Formats: sequence, structure tokens, C-alpha cells
Amino acid sequence: MKKDSLLKLKLKLTKEKKDLEKVLSSFAKKDKKLPDDWDTKFPQFNGSLEESADEVEEFTNLLPLEAKLELQLLDVKRALKKVEMDSYGLCEKCGKKISEKRLKVLPEAKFCSRCANLL
Ligand SMILES: [Zn+2]
Repeated sequence: MKKDSLLKLKLKLTKEKKDLEKVLSSFAKKDKKLPDDWDTKFPQFNGSLEESADEVEEFTNLLPLEAKLELQLLDVKRALKKVEMDSYGLCEKCGKKISEKRLKVLPEAKFCSRCANLL
């Protein structure tokens, strides 16, 4: 991969990491004991019973979103680490190069399109 393409992908990943952390921190907080774990803030109950029910419902809706974003953030961080280790863009399953076209769409891709389709 050309150096400038790699640099562009790295920038994209760094931005994605920031964006994900921003979205996550809007409704979740970082777990102090587990550095890559986020916890959705549980609502404070000081309103009416009806309001509390709405808040619980919102909390329940946020949980799967939080899990999804957390996984995505992990993939992004992992990809950034791979950039540092010079192993970025290699499929984690077969070891072959992941196409640049695929990386442009999904810079945090762990597998080449062939392996990803088989998973
Ligand atoms: Zn592969």
C-alpha cells in the first residue's frame, strides 16, 4: 500500500475513534476498571413514576447501541495499533492483503472480503 493511502486511512480511523468516543460518552461512561469497556448511564429517578418508566425504556434501548459502538471502537483501535505495527491491511484470517477499495469503505476491516463472506 502506498504511504499516502495508508496515511489517509489512518486519519480516517483516528477521526472515527474520536467520533465513536464522543457518541459513547454522550450516554455512557468509561468503566474505570476495564479500559475498553463502557457502561450506559442508568437514569436517575427523581421524576414521576411515568417519567421514570420512559427513562428505563430509553436505557433499555441504549444498551444494544452501546454494545455495538463499543465493538466498533475496539475494531478501530485495533486497526490503529496495526498501523503502528506495520501489519495494517492484512487479513487476520488468511494473512493476505485486504484490498484498498475495501479498506476505504471499512478502514477497520479485520478480514479480506473473501474471509469476511465466509464468516
Ligand atoms: Zn482473508
